[in-house]
Amino acid sequence: MAAPRGWLGTVEAEGISGRQGSSGVEVVFPSDPATPAPLCPHGPTLLFVKVNQGKEETRRFYACSACRDRKDCNFFQWEDEKLSGARLAAREAHNQKCQPPLSRTQCVERYVKFIELSLSQRKFCQGCQQLLLPDDWEKHQEHRVVGDISITQLKRPSQLLYPLENKKTNAQYLFTDRSCQFLVDLLSTLGFTRVLCVGTPRLHELIRLKASGEKKSNIKSLLLDIDFRYSQFYMEDSFCHYNMFNHHFFDGKAALEVCRTFLQEDKGEGVIMVTDPPFGGLVEPLAVTFKKLIAMWKEGQSQDNSQKELPIFWIFPYFFEFRIRQFFPSFCMLDYQVDYDNHALYKHGKTGRKQSPVRIFTNIPPNKIILPSEEGYRFCPLCQRYVSLENQHCEHCNSCTSKDGRKWNHCFLCKKCVKPSWIHCSICSHCALPDHSCGAPKDGCFICGELDHKRSTCPKIATSKKVNNTLFFRAVRKQKQRKSNKMKMGTTKGQSMNHTSVTRKKSRRERAHQYLCS
Ligand code: SAH
Ligand code: ZN
Ligand code: ZN
Ligand code: ZN
Ligand code: ZN
Repeated sequence: MAAPRGWLGTVEAEGISGRQGSSGVEVVFPSDPATPAPLCPHGPTLLFVKVNQGKEETRRFYACSACRDRKDCNFFQWEDEKLSGARLAAREAHNQKCQPPLSRTQCVERYVKFIELSLSQRKFCQGCQQLLLPDDWEKHQEHRVVGDISITQLKRPSQLLYPLENKKTNAQYLFTDRSCQFLVDLLSTLGFTRVLCVGTPRLHELIRLKASGEKKSNIKSLLLDIDFRYSQFYMEDSFCHYNMFNHHFFDGKAALEVCRTFLQEDKGEGVIMVTDPPFGGLVEPLAVTFKKLIAMWKEGQSQDNSQKELPIFWIFPYFFEFRIRQFFPSFCMLDYQVDYDNHALYKHGKTGRKQSPVRIFTNIPPNKIILPSEEGYRFCPLCQRYVSLENQHCEHCNSCTSKDGRKWNHCFLCKKCVKPSWIHCSICSHCALPDHSCGAPKDGCFICGELDHKRSTCPKIATSKKVNNTLFFRAVRKQKQRKSNKMKMGTTKGQSMNHTSVTRKKSRRERAHQYLCS
């Protein structure tokens, strides 16, 4: 049976927030599911329900946990749908076909061979996003291949690989050096010895660089990420191919054990989890996953430590504060603005057009987290935390109330601080933008439905991040295809320009255009 046409389109237009009265699609976590969720290539699917004007439609369906674009994973199944044996077998075969062409062990073997090659033999195919061994050279002859890959480059895969940032797939936003250095220094100041990096490849690599650098730090790091390209650069104990929306380890039990061992080492002392999930992702499945990782860590604790929490940094936009605190009430939001290299909008200070809305949510007491005074952050003794320069302590709210870094004003009628651009509207009896239309439903963001930003600054525009090792494997498949075509047709000169890189260039341009014009 076909999916309700464009249900994902609905998500985009109407929002996936859990707000009452809104429309969209929500995830459901049945307390005791009758049957396990069916599997797509990205592990167990999630159960969704369409919500119209606050009312749940009765028929629920399973869809991919990681891909919100049907082009990337078109899994769809009604909850009550019964599949024939043939359909199930076809699905199983499809799931198999979508797995990476190389096993985790094969990747490690290749890596070991690769580092033993001489500099001039170390080549990387940009089109296929793959390190090449001499046996592979011929196949990639007509691709864009770069040579002389140094050990330094190998240690910085996030610079060698292009970010999978096209907005409908695996939008990958890499920290700027400023933010990444800040995080690494902070982790070391706080005395952590192990970092579980969930969707933070650049942080992972910087931690490891520092651990092998001159002023050796002793921090270990394990990366869990859905971007399979990273498996070419790390041994089994430092990278697991992982889906954070369903806690799925693509390489099964062995990978799960790597993660468990890492969390439970030293009786769980000294470890922190740092995560920077796709912002377009649903908060609830992420929270469910993080609770599973917390439970895994807890198993390794001794009884008398039962009060302790696994320290966490969850990096996410400030307007998700309410949602995150619903699941993790002990978390507080820091004022530090996290920014990204390849995100025109989310840059720090003067270089970007806007201040970054991305913050750190944590269960570490905020007075322990010193924010850089060079960037204007200062300590508020009343709030016992570091706040941004313009965030002023409001004596009525008894708190430093700004969320976006600008100075907010107290409204005595609303009895709270509001954005500087808002004024109190006596018709609506609350504060709003001066040009709002009175009586209309609060006009939130067209894309995600949140009230505190507009479409042009919605993080979802750029970050409806998705799965996709597909770019990589599509490239590999295309290549195989081309080669076999070539052999079939006896031609020697095919199109040498790689399809993947063409689309990538195009979408980059489109994105740049979108930002400049929004
Ligand atoms: N700022 C981080 C990168 C964050 S971008 C850094 O610089 O290190 C989001 C990351 O999450 C990407 O690496 C992306 O590959 C990964 N990701 C996206 N969807 C995922 C999923 N379903 N499971 C696990 N990782 C995912
Ligand atoms: Zn899927
Ligand atoms: Zn204060
Ligand atoms: Zn106030
Ligand atoms: Zn007001």
